[in-house]
Amino acid sequence: MSHDPNCIFCKIVAGALPCTKLYEDAATLAFMDINPLNPGHALAIPKSHAKDVFAIEEEAIAATVKTARKVARAARAALSPAGVNLLQSSGPAAGQSVFHLHFHIIPRHTGDGLRFNWTPVPGDMAEIGRVAALIRAKIEA
Ligand code: 5GP
Ligand code: ZN
Repeated sequence: MSHDPNCIFCKIVAGALPCTKLYEDAATLAFMDINPLNPGHALAIPKSHAKDVFAIEEEAIAATVKTARKVARAARAALSPAGVNLLQSSGPAAGQSVFHLHFHIIPRHTGDGLRFNWTPVPGDMAEIGRVAALIRAKIEA
């Protein structure tokens, strides 16, 4: 398992930084984004450090997509959004700001006006925790 001591998501995987966890298995972790674009905005990551889609091993990204699918289904069951985006950004020009590969799981509503490149705005942690509990309850085995 590759670990980068300077990587914020590796610190979350190691338990050195907190997160609002939704799901984990041997290879992946899913948790709430702290700057949610919409309620339920979550991230799925491999536990092993890989910078982006170009660096990651096939098996690791496959496991991460599997977890993103699980979270998307749980978010749909819990929050009934009109749709869900799975978004993976590789490289600063694509909007990547944390250089540990991740998939965003973003519940969408008709006319919510979201665009691909956005400015992060901190969310209310109590509200993020409340929504996380709804999604967590719908995670399938
Ligand atoms: P990117 O811009 O790289 O596609 O997405 C990085 C995401 O990570 C952003 O949506 C940002 O809000 C989120 N993020 C950055 N730092 C933290 C953190 O410490 N905890 C959590 N839960 N999310 C973070
Ligand atoms: Zn990392």
